[in-house]
Amino acid sequence: MMQVFYGPAYVGAGHVFDTTRKSQWVAESLTADPIAGVQVCAPEPVTETMLAQVHDARYIEAMRTGVPRDLAESQGFRWDSGIWDAAIASTGGVLAAVRAALTDGVAGSLSSGLHHALPKEGRGFCTFNGLALGALHALDRGARRVLILDVDAHCGGGTYVCIRGNSAITHFDLAVHPYDRYLARTPHRLVLVDRADRYLGELRRLLASVEHDPFDCCVYNAGMDPFEGCREGGLPGITADILAERERLVFQWCTERHVPIAFVLAGGYTGSTCTLEQLIALHRSTITAAVSAGRRWLLHRG
Ligand SMILES: [Zn+2]
Repeated sequence: MMQVFYGPAYVGAGHVFDTTRKSQWVAESLTADPIAGVQVCAPEPVTETMLAQVHDARYIEAMRTGVPRDLAESQGFRWDSGIWDAAIASTGGVLAAVRAALTDGVAGSLSSGLHHALPKEGRGFCTFNGLALGALHALDRGARRVLILDVDAHCGGGTYVCIRGNSAITHFDLAVHPYDRYLARTPHRLVLVDRADRYLGELRRLLASVEHDPFDCCVYNAGMDPFEGCREGGLPGITADILAERERLVFQWCTERHVPIAFVLAGGYTGSTCTLEQLIALHRSTITAAVSAGRRWLLHRG
């Protein structure tokens, strides 16, 4: 079984919008219409010691207590005590997914709102940087080289700041919207795509550039907001089929090279041109591709 981490605490924040509620929508859909081979498990919350690997003590304290208020609301929504529980639960889920991936090959967490978060404050609806924390956790668990692959529509400038200077982490960012753009230097690469017909080709090119790099783990930020119907980030011509193909490509690339992969949901927003059903289907395409890659992983291992 492939482990996918989620618990009710993920949606404890009072502020209601897609990022704070989406994991529940996807989890409910997995209950109503299960994907064979998926086991939903509740993770342990991340500890403050773990958070301190990336985040400043003053910021962690602000998120826990709500004081100072401007810092506690720096990610962009009203602070309430549920935000802390939600943030430590869903960040703990990323770390649990990394551990499960290192053992089982493929795992995930229904977490969102990670890649814009900075060491000293939140940004862009992201509270803690679970991608940076997940990569460091993989290194703590014995991985020597980690790939962070971020295909959310927006750039992951927060992740860049969090892991800058760590030569054990390669950071690839395939974006379609300039928000949170940064000047990427090796081992960071940022590719900003402005035409849908170039999207998958650019992804293939990125992956081909590290064809022979021996990664021990991939942390995959599987944002669905490049979808043409998403009001935040969507690029015309990027269809659900293209995104499903993207997911097959990424999971296949990792499993063929025996690179354990831990995925998270990331962006994807409902609106007049993206219904809740469409958004859930988009995120389910990540889980479906992950499960079939996980099966191949087990076959390879015999
Ligand atoms: Zn995004």
